[in-house]
Amino acid sequence: MSLDYRALGLKAGLEIHQQLDTKEKLFCGCPTLLRDVKESNLEFFRYLRPTQSEMGVVDKAALEEVKLTKRFIYKAYDTTCLVENDEEPPRELNQEALQYALVIARMLNMHIVDELYTMRKIVIDGSNTSGFQRTDLVATKGFLESSGGRVGIDVLCLEEEAAQKIEDKVDSVIYSLDRLGIPLVEIGTAPDIVSPAHAREVAEKLGMILRSTGRVKRGIGTIRQDINISIAEGARVEIKGVQELDLIEAIVEQEAARQFVLLEIKKELIKRRASVSDKIVDVTHVFANTSSKVILKALKGGSVLAINLPGFAGLVGKEIQPGRRLGTEFSDRAKKSGVGGIFHTDELPNYGITEEEVRALRNAMGAQDGDCVIMVADAKERAKGALEAVIIRAREALECIPEETRRALPDGNSAYMRPLPGAARMYPETDVPPVEITEERIRNIKLPELIEERKARYMRQFKLNEELAGQIARSQNMPLFETIMAKVPGANPTMVVRTLETTLYELEKESVPVNNIKEEHLVQLFKLQSEGRIPNEAIGSILKTSANKPELSVDKAAQSLGIGVVETSDLETVIDKVIESKMDFIKEKGLNSVGPLMGVVMKDLRGKVSGQEISRLLKEKISKKLDTVK
Ligand SMILES: [Zn+2]
Repeated sequence: MSLDYRALGLKAGLEIHQQLDTKEKLFCGCPTLLRDVKESNLEFFRYLRPTQSEMGVVDKAALEEVKLTKRFIYKAYDTTCLVENDEEPPRELNQEALQYALVIARMLNMHIVDELYTMRKIVIDGSNTSGFQRTDLVATKGFLESSGGRVGIDVLCLEEEAAQKIEDKVDSVIYSLDRLGIPLVEIGTAPDIVSPAHAREVAEKLGMILRSTGRVKRGIGTIRQDINISIAEGARVEIKGVQELDLIEAIVEQEAARQFVLLEIKKELIKRRASVSDKIVDVTHVFANTSSKVILKALKGGSVLAINLPGFAGLVGKEIQPGRRLGTEFSDRAKKSGVGGIFHTDELPNYGITEEEVRALRNAMGAQDGDCVIMVADAKERAKGALEAVIIRAREALECIPEETRRALPDGNSAYMRPLPGAARMYPETDVPPVEITEERIRNIKLPELIEERKARYMRQFKLNEELAGQIARSQNMPLFETIMAKVPGANPTMVVRTLETTLYELEKESVPVNNIKEEHLVQLFKLQSEGRIPNEAIGSILKTSANKPELSVDKAAQSLGIGVVETSDLETVIDKVIESKMDFIKEKGLNSVGPLMGVVMKDLRGKVSGQEISRLLKEKISKKLDTVK
């Protein structure tokens, strides 16, 4: 569907959650290290129930979540402590994390607060052992420039990461505590985004700014985006958990389409004078002789219940997003009661349900041609809860687009998660003292070079091509590259980038313990290489040796491979001998003899001395010889 987003009044805002690459967690000294759940050495469980916030209101989202009482099981490790287990109070706020958050705030032209107060945000899905997430407001009212104009940055908060969900079962959820407490920044833009492409551009720019600090974690799951979207007559919907930048455009596009079609459906329903009956009818008898496998399975101890939606025929089956219908929205709500889904007459006969059964069903419900009957087959109580939820959603279809928190789906669609949380969800964390941020501290913040600027500088300063310059400017190896180039002025920049970005990666794939290769190894390696003592083609095998025997100097590692063992004096002897024997040829060709003679020398020394070094010496000696014979 191609829509005019300006005419629709599309407004979108992004909320980005980015993990920071600190040594310790936000409120304890544990490492920010992800673990294999198999290494867990302790397990405990909790139940969480909704509490009243200081406003005295039980949160709507919180209530919905605990309709299903679940047991939360937590896996702990030798790298987790009693703070993550919620058995000890949090420590003081991690200053390293705060410093990175301040840098990011400044890069986004934000106003930094004078004092940080740690607050508790209620979380009842069990992803925090304490039942809340700690959060600190760091800065407000910033902006970034975009092709669609200035986009406001409303808030930047420093927060604890939630525990990672490992398994979701009917009666319990298993979480892993390794991720809990890793510092993250939450950045919320103003709803200044005006089109799907604009959303993508802003997300890309924010990501680039965050990575430019060199202080953020990389890889899947370390950055997550939520998107707030509304159209003029629609409603604010928050779509959570977008991990891929590529999806942002599609999500905004498809949500705008969903709201647009839902508004069309509402208009049509009003025109038809449609209504929603809240009478739930047991229609189990209709299916007494059914051969539908789905119904038969549900009928083992269960019932078939139904409701009638006068005037809804044809609209429940109407597509609102690619492959998703109004009926899918009903079904999402129904599933919250634990049922597998719903049936509606817009899609029947189907699933082994016959035309005759559909007719009997309509009769039992007193449904007219323009009506749509919805039914659920499951344990009676569950089916009743499911249909009650459908009734609420069907009423909303007549009145408005519901404000919801939705879950991003991999195809750019989204599914219902819970109502949009209210604002009354915070109260002060009394265990953590406030942190003052002085004028001086803000003044002393050094802003990092943006990745875009760095790339341009690398092309200028090191004559790297655009691809390599961009690659190393974005890379986690960027600081290492800078160090090597500073310590080894003669190093070949292209060779250094290829080694860091390709050779090391390839070795890692061969299970070489590349973590053993330290900065010092690389500095030595490129020193030798720039002096012509190591041929380029030997770099991989030398690094492999260094990784396996990190205690060896690179020189020794090379020697153990028979590389660079030829002393310069030996090399000179070989070259002198070749020159002596080819003197006639040299006299005839002059300096043009260097190329052919290279081959002769290389035959003896290939892989032991670099071609560059042989060529240099050969040229030098031949020039001298030619001078003397003139
Ligand atoms: Zn800890």
